[in-house]
Amino acid sequence: MAGGKRILVTGGAGFLGSFLCEALLERGHDVLCLDNYSTGSPGNIEHLRDNLRFGVLRHDVTTPMHHEVDEIFNLACPASPVHYQADPIQTLRTNVEGAMNVLRLARRVRAKVFQASTSEVYGDPLVHPQPEGYWGHVNPIGPRSCYDEGKRCAETLFFDFHRQHGVNIRVVRIFNTYGPRMHPNDGRVVSNLIVQALRGEPLTLYGDGSQTRSFCYVDDLIDGFLRMMAGPDSLPGPVNLGNPGEFTVRELAEIILDLTGSRSALEHRPLPADDPRQRKPDIAQARAQLGWEPKVSLRHGLERTIAHFERRLAAERRSAPA
Ligand code: NAD
Ligand code: UDP
Repeated sequence: MAGGKRILVTGGAGFLGSFLCEALLERGHDVLCLDNYSTGSPGNIEHLRDNLRFGVLRHDVTTPMHHEVDEIFNLACPASPVHYQADPIQTLRTNVEGAMNVLRLARRVRAKVFQASTSEVYGDPLVHPQPEGYWGHVNPIGPRSCYDEGKRCAETLFFDFHRQHGVNIRVVRIFNTYGPRMHPNDGRVVSNLIVQALRGEPLTLYGDGSQTRSFCYVDDLIDGFLRMMAGPDSLPGPVNLGNPGEFTVRELAEIILDLTGSRSALEHRPLPADDPRQRKPDIAQARAQLGWEPKVSLRHGLERTIAHFERRLAAERRSAPA
């Protein structure tokens, strides 16, 4: 049969991980989902449990792993600033010790290994849009550093294992991605604003809302993951994956108000420390080398995400005690 690889997905019960497990199973692979459920949940992978090719393991990547696999996708790490700053030392350990553990495993079993890195390696960028050759502008001692520097150190480990031990690596830098299955209390801007709009609560804009982000729909991103993993060994990365459409947070809020028909007000809150002013990927490399570019527009992706949250909030209301 086509496919048929044994694939380990760390962080597989999270937002992106659950879509990745699903896509790999659809292609006929055996998938082992490993997660400590710190920000992910068993509910995200519940619908995959009946598939005999799917296995689940509760495990923390800071502890070594021993699995005979052909490929590893390393996604384990909280991605929302609220969550990764709640226990910054654990975030740093997850990034650095987690990367070390998956790389040692990859070396031992000769597996190809993929790292979910981030646009945060560019920090508060002084170059716009950000190409992969830009080294970034990162505060090493701020509240975001556990994530930014942790991901940068993980990239270093990946490239050192590649050069020193010949490990076959793939590194992608993911820009803000959204979609169904984000947790309602995830804390990231898309889920926060949608949930607030649907509940008729004020939409929280941090700062004046003029900071920009580029929002990629989850299906497009997963397609990029698969192309990168299947791409040539001569392309270890890093490769930017994101939607180059750039929006201010205020524009995002206005689109969400329009799509939900909500009459919620906009409410300003203080801007978090070291919040990047602007962010937009240069995806020339992904276009040229992987034939990849996002297909889902922000409005279309938001419509699908809003529909998901409407169902989810309605189910929560039904199950709440009267
Ligand atoms: P998420 O928080 O939904 O998923 C992360 C998953 O990792 C969760 O299931 C969590 O329980 C698990 N996890 C965390 N620490 C762990 C540990 N020590 N051991 C085992 N499992 C652990 O976030 P997401 O949006 O799905 O992000 C997935 C990956 O993609 C992360 O590495 C994140 O840094 C990266 N990323 C995501 C985005 C985005 O916009 N979604 C952007 C850049 C990078
Ligand atoms: N943000 C906001 N309101 C919210 C949550 C976030 O205005 O309720 C802002 C946040 O300050 C940042 C942007 O939206 O400028 C994206 O935040 P998110 O946490 O989604 O991702 P990241 O900062 O990691 O890009």
